[in-house]
Amino acid sequence: MDNQDNIMPADGRELHEECGVFGVFGVEDAANLTYYGLHALQHRGQEACGIVRVDENREFKRVKGEGLVTEVFNEKNLAALGSGDMAIGHVRYTTAGGGGIENVQPFLFRHHTGNFALAHNGNLVNSKELARYLEDGGSLFQSTSDSELLAHLIKKDRGDKHRIHNIVDALNMIEGAFAFLIMTANKLYVCRDKYGLRPVSIGRLNGGYVVSSETCALDVVGAKFVRDVEPGEIVIIDREGLHSVHYSQFKRHYMCAMEYVYFARPDSDIEGVNVHAYRKESGRLLYREAPVDADIVIAVPDSSVSAAIGYSEESGIPYEMGLVKNRYVGRTFIQPSQELRDKGVRMKLSAVRSIVNGKRVVMIDDSIVRGTTSRRIVSLLKEAGAVEVHVRIASPPYSHPCFYGVDTATYDELISSRLSVEELCRKIGADSLVFLSEEGLYRSGGRKELCTACFTGRYPTALYGSMEDVYREGKF
Ligand code: AMP
Ligand code: SF4
Repeated sequence: MDNQDNIMPADGRELHEECGVFGVFGVEDAANLTYYGLHALQHRGQEACGIVRVDENREFKRVKGEGLVTEVFNEKNLAALGSGDMAIGHVRYTTAGGGGIENVQPFLFRHHTGNFALAHNGNLVNSKELARYLEDGGSLFQSTSDSELLAHLIKKDRGDKHRIHNIVDALNMIEGAFAFLIMTANKLYVCRDKYGLRPVSIGRLNGGYVVSSETCALDVVGAKFVRDVEPGEIVIIDREGLHSVHYSQFKRHYMCAMEYVYFARPDSDIEGVNVHAYRKESGRLLYREAPVDADIVIAVPDSSVSAAIGYSEESGIPYEMGLVKNRYVGRTFIQPSQELRDKGVRMKLSAVRSIVNGKRVVMIDDSIVRGTTSRRIVSLLKEAGAVEVHVRIASPPYSHPCFYGVDTATYDELISSRLSVEELCRKIGADSLVFLSEEGLYRSGGRKELCTACFTGRYPTALYGSMEDVYREGKF
Protein backbone atom coordinates (compact mmCIF):
# COMPACT_ATOMS: atom_id res chain seq x y z
CA MET A 1 0.00 0.00 0.00
CA ASP A 2 1.13 3.57 -0.58
CA ASN A 3 3.80 4.72 1.80
CA GLN A 4 2.25 8.19 1.86
CA ASP A 5 -0.59 6.65 3.78
CA ASN A 6 -0.56 5.88 7.44
CA ILE A 7 -1.88 2.46 8.28
CA MET A 8 -4.15 2.83 11.25
CA PRO A 9 -4.50 -0.46 13.08
CA ALA A 10 -7.42 -1.23 15.36
CA ASP A 11 -5.58 0.08 18.43
CA GLY A 12 -5.15 3.47 16.77
CA ARG A 13 -1.33 3.20 16.73
CA GLU A 14 0.20 3.91 13.38
CA LEU A 15 2.96 2.02 11.73
CA HIS A 16 5.99 4.20 11.49
CA GLU A 17 8.63 4.65 8.90
CA GLU A 18 11.99 6.17 9.12
CA CYS A 19 13.25 9.59 8.19
CA GLY A 20 14.86 11.47 5.35
CA VAL A 21 17.83 13.83 5.32
CA PHE A 22 18.84 16.40 2.72
CA GLY A 23 21.79 18.79 2.65
CA VAL A 24 23.27 21.49 0.41
CA PHE A 25 26.82 22.86 0.28
CA GLY A 26 27.98 25.72 -1.92
CA VAL A 27 24.74 26.31 -3.82
CA GLU A 28 22.86 29.62 -3.60
CA ASP A 29 19.45 29.64 -1.94
CA ALA A 30 20.36 26.50 -0.04
CA ALA A 31 17.30 26.72 2.24
CA ASN A 32 14.91 26.90 -0.72
CA LEU A 33 16.61 23.97 -2.41
CA THR A 34 16.38 22.01 0.82
CA TYR A 35 12.64 22.72 0.93
CA TYR A 36 12.25 21.10 -2.51
CA GLY A 37 14.53 18.24 -1.53
CA LEU A 38 12.53 17.54 1.63
CA HIS A 39 9.32 17.67 -0.35
CA ALA A 40 10.68 14.87 -2.57
CA LEU A 41 11.51 12.89 0.58
CA GLN A 42 8.13 13.47 2.20
CA HIS A 43 7.20 9.79 1.84
CA ARG A 44 9.95 8.97 4.39
CA GLY A 45 8.27 10.89 7.19
CA GLN A 46 5.23 13.08 7.51
CA GLU A 47 5.17 13.95 11.17
CA ALA A 48 7.60 16.84 11.33
CA CYS A 49 10.36 18.58 9.40
CA GLY A 50 12.95 21.30 9.68
CA ILE A 51 15.73 23.19 7.92
CA VAL A 52 18.88 24.83 9.32
CA ARG A 53 20.96 27.08 7.12
CA VAL A 54 24.29 28.87 7.54
CA ASP A 55 24.74 32.27 5.90
CA GLU A 56 27.73 34.38 4.80
CA ASN A 57 28.20 35.63 8.38
CA ARG A 58 28.40 32.06 9.68
CA GLU A 59 25.04 32.57 11.38
CA PHE A 60 22.87 29.50 11.93
CA LYS A 61 19.15 29.88 11.50
CA ARG A 62 16.44 27.25 11.84
CA VAL A 63 12.76 26.74 11.03
CA LYS A 64 11.11 23.52 12.17
CA GLY A 65 7.69 22.28 13.10
CA GLU A 66 5.24 19.42 13.21
CA GLY A 67 3.45 18.60 9.97
CA LEU A 68 4.13 18.14 6.28
CA VAL A 69 6.79 20.16 4.45
CA THR A 70 4.04 22.25 2.81
CA GLU A 71 2.44 22.89 6.21
CA VAL A 72 5.58 23.85 8.14
CA PHE A 73 7.17 26.06 5.47
CA ASN A 74 5.73 29.07 3.69
CA GLU A 75 7.16 31.90 1.62
CA LYS A 76 7.60 34.03 4.69
CA ASN A 77 9.60 31.66 6.86
CA LEU A 78 11.64 30.43 3.87
CA ALA A 79 12.48 34.04 3.03
CA ALA A 80 13.44 34.55 6.66
CA LEU A 81 15.97 31.73 6.32
CA GLY A 82 17.69 34.03 3.81
CA SER A 83 20.31 33.47 1.20
CA GLY A 84 23.06 31.23 2.63
CA ASP A 85 24.65 28.54 0.47
CA MET A 86 24.70 25.80 3.14
CA ALA A 87 21.68 24.06 4.65
CA ILE A 88 20.52 20.74 6.03
CA GLY A 89 16.99 19.47 6.42
CA HIS A 90 15.07 16.55 7.83
CA VAL A 91 11.67 14.91 7.50
CA ARG A 92 10.73 12.62 10.31
CA TYR A 93 8.58 9.94 11.66
CA THR A 94 8.81 9.32 15.35
CA THR A 95 11.32 6.55 15.83
CA ALA A 96 13.52 6.52 18.94
CA GLY A 97 12.68 9.26 21.39
CA GLY A 98 8.99 9.79 20.67
CA GLY A 99 7.23 12.90 19.41
CA GLY A 100 7.27 16.50 20.58
CA ILE A 101 8.81 19.61 19.07
CA GLU A 102 12.05 19.20 21.04
CA ASN A 103 12.66 16.01 19.08
CA VAL A 104 12.10 17.62 15.67
CA GLN A 105 15.31 17.83 13.67
CA PRO A 106 17.72 19.21 12.59
CA PHE A 107 19.19 19.90 16.02
CA LEU A 108 21.22 23.00 16.55
CA PHE A 109 24.06 23.03 19.06
CA ARG A 110 25.79 26.15 20.25
CA HIS A 111 29.28 25.62 21.57
CA HIS A 112 32.31 27.82 22.22
CA THR A 113 34.35 25.71 19.78
CA GLY A 114 31.79 26.41 17.02
CA ASN A 115 28.10 25.89 16.43
CA PHE A 116 26.83 22.94 14.47
CA ALA A 117 23.59 21.42 13.23
CA LEU A 118 22.78 17.75 12.99
CA ALA A 119 20.20 15.60 11.20
CA HIS A 120 19.86 11.85 11.44
CA ASN A 121 18.06 9.00 9.69
CA GLY A 122 18.07 5.59 11.37
CA ASN A 123 18.23 4.28 14.90
CA LEU A 124 21.02 3.49 17.34
CA VAL A 125 20.85 0.22 19.23
CA ASN A 126 23.12 1.20 22.14
CA SER A 127 21.59 4.61 22.89
CA LYS A 128 20.43 3.71 26.41
CA GLU A 129 23.90 2.55 27.40
CA LEU A 130 25.52 5.65 25.88
CA ALA A 131 23.02 8.03 27.49
CA ARG A 132 23.82 6.56 30.89
CA TYR A 133 27.54 6.86 30.23
CA LEU A 134 27.18 10.50 29.19
CA GLU A 135 24.85 11.43 32.04
CA ASP A 136 27.31 9.91 34.49
CA GLY A 137 29.86 12.24 32.93
CA GLY A 138 27.62 15.27 33.53
CA SER A 139 25.77 15.64 30.21
CA LEU A 140 22.23 16.99 30.27
CA PHE A 141 19.87 16.09 27.43
CA GLN A 142 17.27 18.43 25.87
CA SER A 143 15.58 15.67 23.93
CA THR A 144 15.40 11.91 23.95
CA SER A 145 16.78 11.55 20.46
CA ASP A 146 19.75 9.51 19.24
CA SER A 147 21.04 12.53 17.35
CA GLU A 148 21.53 14.54 20.50
CA LEU A 149 23.54 11.66 21.86
CA LEU A 150 25.93 11.89 18.95
CA ALA A 151 26.27 15.64 19.48
CA HIS A 152 27.27 15.06 23.11
CA LEU A 153 29.75 12.39 22.08
CA ILE A 154 31.29 14.74 19.53
CA LYS A 155 31.56 17.48 22.11
CA LYS A 156 33.00 15.28 24.85
CA ASP A 157 36.25 16.75 25.95
CA ARG A 158 39.04 14.87 24.26
CA GLY A 159 41.81 17.44 24.53
CA ASP A 160 42.64 19.63 21.56
CA LYS A 161 41.80 17.29 18.71
CA HIS A 162 40.34 18.45 15.41
CA ARG A 163 36.62 18.09 14.95
CA ILE A 164 36.98 15.21 12.49
CA HIS A 165 38.82 13.17 15.14
CA ASN A 166 35.98 13.80 17.55
CA ILE A 167 33.45 12.71 14.94
CA VAL A 168 35.45 9.54 14.18
CA ASP A 169 35.65 8.73 17.89
CA ALA A 170 31.95 9.41 18.40
CA LEU A 171 30.90 7.26 15.43
CA ASN A 172 33.02 4.44 16.77
CA MET A 173 31.03 4.50 20.00
CA ILE A 174 27.59 4.30 18.44
CA GLU A 175 26.09 1.12 17.06
CA GLY A 176 23.14 0.83 14.73
CA ALA A 177 21.76 2.29 11.53
CA PHE A 178 22.44 5.85 10.53
CA ALA A 179 22.93 8.48 7.91
CA PHE A 180 24.09 11.60 9.79
CA LEU A 181 24.51 15.08 8.38
CA ILE A 182 26.63 17.39 10.52
CA MET A 183 26.88 21.00 9.38
CA THR A 184 29.39 23.44 10.85
CA ALA A 185 29.90 27.07 9.76
CA ASN A 186 32.11 25.97 6.87
CA LYS A 187 31.82 22.19 6.41
CA LEU A 188 29.26 19.50 5.82
CA TYR A 189 30.03 16.02 7.19
CA VAL A 190 28.02 13.13 5.76
CA CYS A 191 28.36 9.92 7.77
CA ARG A 192 26.98 6.46 7.04
CA ASP A 193 26.91 3.45 9.36
CA LYS A 194 29.49 0.75 8.76
CA TYR A 195 26.79 -1.89 8.13
CA GLY A 196 25.42 0.16 5.25
CA LEU A 197 21.87 -0.09 6.60
CA ARG A 198 20.64 3.35 5.54
CA PRO A 199 21.23 4.97 2.16
CA VAL A 200 22.71 8.41 1.49
CA SER A 201 23.89 9.74 -1.86
CA ILE A 202 25.81 12.76 -3.13
CA GLY A 203 25.00 14.89 -6.17
CA ARG A 204 26.61 17.84 -7.92
CA LEU A 205 24.73 21.07 -8.63
CA ASN A 206 25.98 24.43 -9.94
CA GLY A 207 29.52 23.91 -8.67
CA GLY A 208 28.27 22.83 -5.24
CA TYR A 209 27.03 19.60 -3.66
CA VAL A 210 23.71 18.15 -2.60
CA VAL A 211 23.28 15.10 -0.36
CA SER A 212 20.11 13.11 0.12
CA SER A 213 18.70 9.95 1.65
CA GLU A 214 17.33 9.09 -1.76
CA THR A 215 18.41 9.95 -5.28
CA CYS A 216 14.85 11.00 -6.26
CA ALA A 217 15.45 14.27 -4.38
CA LEU A 218 18.71 14.84 -6.28
CA ASP A 219 16.77 14.58 -9.54
CA VAL A 220 14.04 16.90 -8.29
CA VAL A 221 16.49 19.74 -7.60
CA GLY A 222 18.38 19.10 -10.84
CA ALA A 223 21.54 17.69 -9.23
CA LYS A 224 23.66 15.10 -11.01
CA PHE A 225 24.32 11.91 -9.05
CA VAL A 226 28.02 11.61 -8.09
CA ARG A 227 28.14 8.58 -5.80
CA ASP A 228 26.78 6.92 -2.68
CA VAL A 229 28.49 7.47 0.64
CA GLU A 230 30.16 4.15 1.50
CA PRO A 231 29.39 2.18 4.68
CA GLY A 232 31.70 3.40 7.45
CA GLU A 233 32.63 6.50 5.49
CA ILE A 234 32.56 10.17 6.44
CA VAL A 235 32.46 12.45 3.42
CA ILE A 236 33.59 15.95 4.31
CA ILE A 237 32.45 18.70 1.95
CA ASP A 238 34.19 22.08 2.17
CA ARG A 239 35.27 24.90 -0.17
CA GLU A 240 38.03 22.65 -1.56
CA GLY A 241 35.60 19.87 -2.53
CA LEU A 242 35.02 16.32 -1.24
CA HIS A 243 37.27 14.50 1.21
CA SER A 244 36.80 11.01 2.50
CA VAL A 245 37.64 9.43 5.86
CA HIS A 246 36.71 5.93 7.02
CA TYR A 247 35.81 5.80 10.69
CA SER A 248 35.89 2.00 10.69
CA GLN A 249 37.78 -0.75 8.89
CA PHE A 250 34.71 -2.98 9.21
CA LYS A 251 32.41 -2.48 6.26
CA ARG A 252 29.37 -4.41 5.03
CA HIS A 253 26.57 -3.76 2.57
CA TYR A 254 23.56 -4.76 4.65
CA MET A 255 21.20 -2.30 2.99
CA CYS A 256 17.71 -2.41 4.52
CA ALA A 257 15.68 -4.72 2.29
CA MET A 258 12.53 -2.76 3.16
CA GLU A 259 13.99 0.28 1.39
CA TYR A 260 13.64 -1.67 -1.84
CA VAL A 261 10.42 -3.42 -0.90
CA TYR A 262 8.41 -0.52 0.45
CA PHE A 263 10.01 2.71 1.72
CA ALA A 264 11.90 4.26 -1.13
CA ARG A 265 10.34 6.04 -4.07
CA PRO A 266 10.33 3.98 -7.29
CA ASP A 267 12.37 6.65 -9.10
CA SER A 268 15.24 6.37 -6.59
CA ASP A 269 18.35 4.27 -7.19
CA ILE A 270 19.70 2.58 -4.09
CA GLU A 271 23.31 1.42 -4.34
CA GLY A 272 23.00 1.35 -8.11
CA VAL A 273 19.69 -0.51 -8.29
CA ASN A 274 16.56 1.35 -9.33
CA VAL A 275 13.74 0.75 -6.86
CA HIS A 276 11.05 0.27 -9.53
CA ALA A 277 13.29 -2.21 -11.39
CA TYR A 278 13.94 -4.09 -8.13
CA ARG A 279 10.22 -4.35 -7.36
CA LYS A 280 9.36 -5.38 -10.89
CA GLU A 281 11.95 -8.15 -10.76
CA SER A 282 10.58 -9.26 -7.38
CA GLY A 283 7.16 -9.58 -9.06
CA ARG A 284 8.66 -11.68 -11.86
CA LEU A 285 10.39 -13.96 -9.36
CA LEU A 286 7.21 -14.17 -7.31
CA TYR A 287 5.39 -15.57 -10.35
CA ARG A 288 8.15 -18.09 -10.98
CA GLU A 289 8.09 -19.13 -7.34
CA ALA A 290 4.29 -19.09 -6.99
CA PRO A 291 2.41 -19.27 -10.31
CA VAL A 292 -1.37 -19.27 -10.33
CA ASP A 293 -4.06 -19.58 -12.96
CA ALA A 294 -6.04 -16.34 -12.94
CA ASP A 295 -7.75 -13.70 -15.12
CA ILE A 296 -6.20 -10.46 -13.89
CA VAL A 297 -3.29 -9.19 -11.76
CA ILE A 298 -3.97 -6.17 -9.57
CA ALA A 299 -1.78 -4.05 -7.29
CA VAL A 300 -2.52 -2.50 -3.93
CA PRO A 301 -1.66 1.08 -4.89
CA ASP A 302 0.93 2.56 -4.93
CA SER A 303 3.95 0.74 -3.56
CA SER A 304 3.10 -2.66 -5.07
CA VAL A 305 2.37 -1.44 -8.60
CA SER A 306 5.90 -2.21 -9.84
CA ALA A 307 5.81 -5.78 -8.44
CA ALA A 308 2.35 -6.35 -9.95
CA ILE A 309 3.59 -5.23 -13.37
CA GLY A 310 6.47 -7.72 -13.04
CA TYR A 311 4.11 -10.53 -12.04
CA SER A 312 1.84 -9.71 -14.96
CA GLU A 313 4.66 -9.57 -17.51
CA GLU A 314 6.15 -12.85 -16.36
CA SER A 315 2.81 -14.69 -16.25
CA GLY A 316 1.16 -13.13 -19.28
CA ILE A 317 -1.92 -12.44 -17.10
CA PRO A 318 -3.15 -8.89 -17.84
CA TYR A 319 -2.48 -6.16 -15.29
CA GLU A 320 -5.67 -4.32 -14.40
CA MET A 321 -6.65 -1.47 -12.15
CA GLY A 322 -8.85 -3.38 -9.76
CA LEU A 323 -8.33 -0.99 -6.85
CA VAL A 324 -8.46 2.78 -6.84
CA LYS A 325 -7.05 4.91 -4.11
CA ASN A 326 -8.36 8.21 -2.86
CA ARG A 327 -5.19 10.30 -2.62
CA TYR A 328 -6.70 12.91 -0.38
CA VAL A 329 -7.11 10.87 2.78
CA GLY A 330 -4.44 12.67 4.78
CA ARG A 331 -3.37 12.74 8.38
CA THR A 332 -6.05 15.21 9.40
CA PHE A 333 -8.87 13.29 7.76
CA ILE A 334 -11.63 12.28 10.18
CA GLN A 335 -11.79 8.49 9.94
CA PRO A 336 -15.27 6.98 9.72
CA SER A 337 -16.49 5.35 12.92
CA GLN A 338 -16.72 1.56 13.16
CA GLU A 339 -20.48 1.89 12.71
CA LEU A 340 -20.09 3.81 9.44
CA ARG A 341 -17.38 1.40 8.30
CA ASP A 342 -19.77 -1.47 8.93
CA LYS A 343 -22.28 0.36 6.74
CA GLY A 344 -19.70 0.25 3.96
CA VAL A 345 -18.01 3.66 4.24
CA ARG A 346 -14.49 3.03 3.04
CA MET A 347 -12.34 5.98 2.32
CA LYS A 348 -8.87 4.97 1.22
CA LEU A 349 -9.37 2.22 -1.32
CA SER A 350 -12.23 1.15 -3.57
CA ALA A 351 -12.51 -2.00 -5.64
CA VAL A 352 -13.58 -1.42 -9.25
CA ARG A 353 -16.60 -3.68 -9.65
CA SER A 354 -16.68 -3.64 -13.45
CA ILE A 355 -13.09 -4.90 -13.52
CA VAL A 356 -13.06 -7.55 -10.79
CA ASN A 357 -16.62 -8.89 -11.01
CA GLY A 358 -16.60 -12.59 -11.98
CA LYS A 359 -12.79 -12.66 -12.22
CA ARG A 360 -10.08 -14.78 -10.65
CA VAL A 361 -7.80 -12.12 -9.24
CA VAL A 362 -4.12 -12.19 -8.24
CA MET A 363 -3.65 -9.42 -5.69
CA ILE A 364 -0.06 -8.27 -5.24
CA ASP A 365 1.09 -6.37 -2.16
CA ASP A 366 4.64 -5.55 -1.10
CA SER A 367 4.37 -6.78 2.49
CA ILE A 368 2.08 -7.96 5.25
CA VAL A 369 2.87 -6.49 8.65
CA ARG A 370 -0.21 -6.80 10.85
CA GLY A 371 -2.46 -8.32 8.22
CA THR A 372 -5.10 -5.58 8.45
CA THR A 373 -4.63 -4.26 4.91
CA SER A 374 -4.75 -7.64 3.16
CA ARG A 375 -7.80 -8.79 5.09
CA ARG A 376 -9.68 -5.60 4.21
CA ILE A 377 -8.74 -5.71 0.56
CA VAL A 378 -9.57 -9.38 0.04
CA SER A 379 -13.03 -8.71 1.44
CA LEU A 380 -13.43 -5.56 -0.72
CA LEU A 381 -12.57 -7.59 -3.82
CA LYS A 382 -14.93 -10.42 -2.95
CA GLU A 383 -17.76 -7.97 -2.24
CA ALA A 384 -17.10 -6.48 -5.67
CA GLY A 385 -17.66 -9.90 -7.22
CA ALA A 386 -14.18 -11.45 -7.51
CA VAL A 387 -14.65 -15.23 -7.65
CA GLU A 388 -11.14 -16.05 -6.40
CA VAL A 389 -8.52 -13.85 -4.73
CA HIS A 390 -4.95 -15.18 -4.73
CA VAL A 391 -2.64 -13.03 -2.62
CA ARG A 392 1.04 -12.82 -3.57
CA ILE A 393 3.39 -10.82 -1.38
CA ALA A 394 6.63 -9.44 -2.83
CA SER A 395 8.64 -10.04 0.38
CA PRO A 396 8.92 -12.87 2.94
CA PRO A 397 6.74 -13.00 6.09
CA TYR A 398 7.59 -10.01 8.29
CA SER A 399 8.10 -11.80 11.58
CA HIS A 400 10.67 -9.88 13.66
CA PRO A 401 10.78 -6.29 14.93
CA CYS A 402 13.18 -3.83 13.35
CA PHE A 403 15.63 -2.08 15.67
CA TYR A 404 17.08 0.15 12.97
CA GLY A 405 14.59 2.95 12.67
CA VAL A 406 11.48 1.25 11.38
CA ASP A 407 9.14 1.21 14.31
CA THR A 408 6.91 -1.42 12.74
CA ALA A 409 5.29 -3.29 15.54
CA THR A 410 5.83 -5.63 18.44
CA TYR A 411 6.17 -9.39 18.07
CA ASP A 412 2.56 -9.74 19.16
CA GLU A 413 1.36 -7.41 16.44
CA LEU A 414 3.46 -8.94 13.67
CA ILE A 415 0.96 -11.40 12.30
CA SER A 416 3.60 -13.63 10.70
CA SER A 417 5.31 -14.15 14.04
CA ARG A 418 2.08 -15.74 15.33
CA LEU A 419 0.50 -17.47 12.36
CA SER A 420 1.72 -19.92 9.75
CA VAL A 421 1.19 -18.98 6.10
CA GLU A 422 -1.82 -21.37 5.93
CA GLU A 423 -3.39 -19.84 9.05
CA LEU A 424 -2.76 -16.34 7.74
CA CYS A 425 -4.31 -17.24 4.40
CA ARG A 426 -7.48 -18.32 6.21
CA LYS A 427 -7.43 -15.23 8.42
CA ILE A 428 -7.32 -12.81 5.49
CA GLY A 429 -9.92 -14.84 3.60
CA ALA A 430 -7.76 -15.45 0.52
CA ASP A 431 -7.98 -18.48 -1.78
CA SER A 432 -4.21 -18.81 -1.67
CA LEU A 433 -1.32 -16.88 -0.17
CA VAL A 434 2.38 -17.08 -1.05
CA PHE A 435 5.29 -14.87 0.00
CA LEU A 436 8.50 -14.20 -1.94
CA SER A 437 11.44 -16.28 -0.68
CA GLU A 438 14.40 -14.73 1.12
CA GLU A 439 16.54 -15.67 -1.86
CA GLY A 440 14.12 -13.72 -4.04
CA LEU A 441 14.94 -10.56 -2.05
CA TYR A 442 18.62 -10.87 -2.98
CA ARG A 443 18.01 -11.93 -6.55
CA SER A 444 15.60 -9.07 -7.28
CA GLY A 445 18.46 -6.59 -6.92
CA GLY A 446 21.36 -8.89 -7.83
CA ARG A 447 22.65 -8.34 -4.30
CA LYS A 448 24.97 -10.49 -2.21
CA GLU A 449 24.20 -8.72 1.06
CA LEU A 450 21.09 -7.12 2.55
CA CYS A 451 19.57 -6.63 5.98
CA THR A 452 16.70 -9.09 6.14
CA ALA A 453 16.39 -9.17 9.94
CA CYS A 454 12.66 -8.46 10.05
CA PHE A 455 12.12 -11.52 7.83
CA THR A 456 14.78 -13.82 9.24
CA GLY A 457 15.69 -12.62 12.74
CA ARG A 458 19.34 -12.38 11.67
CA TYR A 459 20.27 -8.92 12.91
CA PRO A 460 23.48 -7.55 11.41
CA THR A 461 24.49 -5.63 14.55
CA ALA A 462 24.82 -6.65 18.16
CA LEU A 463 21.62 -6.05 20.14
CA TYR A 464 21.77 -4.48 23.55
CA GLY A 465 19.83 -4.74 26.83
CA SER A 466 16.11 -4.53 26.27
CA MET A 467 16.43 -5.44 22.59
CA GLU A 468 18.14 -8.68 23.45
CA ASP A 469 15.30 -9.46 25.85
CA VAL A 470 12.80 -8.78 23.09
CA TYR A 471 14.66 -11.06 20.77
CA ARG A 472 15.22 -13.87 23.27
CA GLU A 473 11.78 -13.84 24.80
CA GLY A 474 9.95 -13.03 21.58
CA LYS A 475 7.89 -10.21 23.06
CA PHE A 476 8.06 -6.47 23.01
P1 AMP B 1 -0.59 -4.33 7.52
O1 AMP B 1 -1.98 -3.88 7.23
O2 AMP B 1 -0.19 -3.97 8.91
O3 AMP B 1 -0.34 -5.76 7.18
O4 AMP B 1 0.37 -3.44 6.64
C1 AMP B 1 0.79 -3.85 5.39
C2 AMP B 1 0.69 -2.69 4.46
O5 AMP B 1 1.41 -1.57 4.98
C3 AMP B 1 1.32 -3.01 3.14
O6 AMP B 1 0.37 -2.64 2.16
C4 AMP B 1 2.57 -2.17 3.05
O7 AMP B 1 2.64 -1.50 1.81
C5 AMP B 1 2.45 -1.16 4.15
N1 AMP B 1 3.64 -1.09 5.04
C6 AMP B 1 4.65 -1.95 5.18
N2 AMP B 1 5.54 -1.50 6.13
C7 AMP B 1 5.05 -0.34 6.58
C8 AMP B 1 5.50 0.64 7.54
N3 AMP B 1 6.62 0.48 8.24
N4 AMP B 1 4.72 1.74 7.74
C9 AMP B 1 3.57 1.93 7.06
N5 AMP B 1 3.10 1.05 6.15
C10 AMP B 1 3.82 -0.06 5.90
FE1 SF4 C 1 15.07 -2.84 7.12
FE2 SF4 C 1 13.90 -4.96 8.21
FE3 SF4 C 1 16.54 -4.59 8.49
FE4 SF4 C 1 14.77 -2.99 9.73
S1 SF4 C 1 15.11 -5.18 10.12
S2 SF4 C 1 16.63 -2.36 8.66
S3 SF4 C 1 13.12 -2.86 8.22
S4 SF4 C 1 15.41 -4.97 6.61
